[in-house]
Amino acid sequence: MIRGNESVSEATQSMSQDYYELLGVRRDASAEEIKKAYRRLARTLHPDVNPDPETHERFKDVTRAYEVLSDPKKREVYDLGGDPMAAAGQGAGFGPGFSFTDIMDAFFGSSGSRGPRSRTRRGQDALLRLPVQLSEAVFGAVKEINVDTAVVCQSCAGAGAAPGTSPTTCPVCEGRGEVSSVQRSFLGQVMTTRPCPRCQGFGTIIPNPCPECAGEGRVLSRRTLAVKIPAGVDDGTRIQLSGQGEVGPGGGPAGDLYVEIQVEPHEVWSRQSSDLHCTVKLPMTAAALGTTITLETLDKDTVEVEAKPGTQSGQELVISGRGVPHLSGSHRGDLIVHVVVETPSRLDAAQRELLTELARLRGEEKASGQFTSERRGVFSRIRDAFNG
Ligand SMILES: [Zn+2]
Ligand SMILES: [Zn+2]
Repeated sequence: MIRGNESVSEATQSMSQDYYELLGVRRDASAEEIKKAYRRLARTLHPDVNPDPETHERFKDVTRAYEVLSDPKKREVYDLGGDPMAAAGQGAGFGPGFSFTDIMDAFFGSSGSRGPRSRTRRGQDALLRLPVQLSEAVFGAVKEINVDTAVVCQSCAGAGAAPGTSPTTCPVCEGRGEVSSVQRSFLGQVMTTRPCPRCQGFGTIIPNPCPECAGEGRVLSRRTLAVKIPAGVDDGTRIQLSGQGEVGPGGGPAGDLYVEIQVEPHEVWSRQSSDLHCTVKLPMTAAALGTTITLETLDKDTVEVEAKPGTQSGQELVISGRGVPHLSGSHRGDLIVHVVVETPSRLDAAQRELLTELARLRGEEKASGQFTSERRGVFSRIRDAFNG
């Protein structure tokens, strides 16, 4: 809606503006929808909130629209093309049958008295990231962590009042936690209720705040906690420690502490779901003749795996059941060894002679390579295996 600054007579204006449009509701809007729409608009347009004169004008229009559409009789007249304001025998303003309480309800909701709020609230949850070794994530561990968090003030036991003193009833709101004020406006007298500025809505004041916590009822403190890390956790797993977060204001119950596992990369093993992968280089001769590969596992154990004669680069050797245990059950993943066959790059005269002889025996002296049905190279397959 675009509005000029020149003043148009109210009667003309009221007829030229669509009331449904003004409130932003459909023509078949329910009484509740109309009320909600008006309440929403009033929150931003009310002169107490927005003193801008143009907004003030808009608020008058919106209020007039609400006045008509919230009254079934006036709405009927309006829907039939009549001027309900004229019918009521008035210009802008509140005609008979339009109760002032309706407007106040629309403004402030009909929730009634809210009363003083409690000083005691639940503390917030906290999140802490905990770096762990891959072996700790796989086999579980107990880690000590330092947590800087709010704890109940020992001096006042959370009450916030200096020892030997106690909170007193707020003299401004007399314990109600809210104050009402009556203002004159074009609506008539408007009563607004807001949290008491003296006691911030608590209804009580603490004349002698606890010197230890400045009346907060809690103090910052460092605690050391032992966190049990179950075997099989992964990067990003969160462990919930109930009631280990910060204590709430006024001695309120503590929130929870979440410990998020951050698994540090291992130089040999990398994890992929419940399997652990590593890469082993094998000399060309060992790959051709076959050998036994000895590996150090994450738990400092050794495990042997056989590379059969003719092992190819990119081949995977599987040691089953030695991978990561599942968080829930007894099943464990596998160890997967990726073989990379190394071609010798420096040959002395004797080795060169031997290899030449070998090539001759195998009829490979003039070998120039041949196409293979394997579309991708060994290394991309290894990469795929690691990256999933
Ligand atoms: Zn205290
Ligand atoms: Zn008060």
